[in-house]
Amino acid sequence: MHELRWNPLVRQWIIVAAHRAVRPWRPTDKERASCPFCPGAPELKHLTSWDVVVLPNKYPALIPHPETPTGWRHPLYVSKEARGVAEVIVETPEHEGDFHTLTLPHVLKVMKVFKEEFEKLSRLEYVEYVALFRNKGKEIGVSLSHPHSQVYALPFIPPRVASEIKSFEEYFEKHGRCLICDIVEHEQAVRDRTVYENEEFLTILPYYAMWPYELHVYPKKHVKSISELSEKDLKFLADAIRVVTATYSRLLKRDAPYIMAMHNHPSKGDYLYHFHIEFYQPYRDPEKLKYAAGSEWGYWVFTYDGIPEERVKELRQACVEIQGNTGDVLGKCE
Ligand code: ZN
Ligand code: ZN
Ligand code: FE
Repeated sequence: MHELRWNPLVRQWIIVAAHRAVRPWRPTDKERASCPFCPGAPELKHLTSWDVVVLPNKYPALIPHPETPTGWRHPLYVSKEARGVAEVIVETPEHEGDFHTLTLPHVLKVMKVFKEEFEKLSRLEYVEYVALFRNKGKEIGVSLSHPHSQVYALPFIPPRVASEIKSFEEYFEKHGRCLICDIVEHEQAVRDRTVYENEEFLTILPYYAMWPYELHVYPKKHVKSISELSEKDLKFLADAIRVVTATYSRLLKRDAPYIMAMHNHPSKGDYLYHFHIEFYQPYRDPEKLKYAAGSEWGYWVFTYDGIPEERVKELRQACVEIQGNTGDVLGKCE
């Protein structure tokens, strides 16, 4: 059973996918031999050699041809078809690793696949939004450790992005400028929260961070989606992403967990929007997890443990430390 259910209290769609309850949980080392993303797996038998590959999600939250919801036959309860696509981007044949353990040319290939996926799925008539994200680490609840990202092609614009669009529009009405263009310009000038900068992208711990080590990667050029990035831009994007994951691992002194969310313009329509990538770190110091709890889940109120302008120093220090030994770093840590 696949369907979208409307929550009328918070006005959001919930994806109901019954079969996802049975998906595997964190294969142990013993099960590594049966990793579905390692070369030789049945899913990959048809490929002789590959370095990045897109596979259908075996436990999709959305499918192209869902059954029509039967509904509970009451106007209180609204549902619609969970029509979409769920895919997995396997980023390397290696079972372990992260962006920074892959070479820069390899991560550039991954970025090109992200761009192709965004464009391919955006063209589907029923797709309103392509959500490209990466969950990493057992702390985040990742069921497979083999490096991979996920794509959800959704039949609606996600609330977080819709809220950003509203902000871009209101800001433009007031100031005649793009909100993120102005943030980039300001952060480049004051340098209170910058962590890393290359020719095309600025990485900052935002003034408005919700997670202790949250990092945002903003293109300096005004682009709405990954689609508008040239090959050269994608190389600098790959570079910025490698530096973020290397910085996290250095900061925690181990393979760091994180969530990466690409925020692209919706697949349809034309809105004011500035493409960016957000990274959330579940730790509040190298040993302690920050849990989203009563305040965050119960009320959507985030408390920031510390001061962003102080915490940024820890990230800068880690960034400087990795700069010399990550190889292929194109920009400069603050
Ligand atoms: Zn594997
Ligand atoms: Zn802009
Ligand atoms: Fe965003």
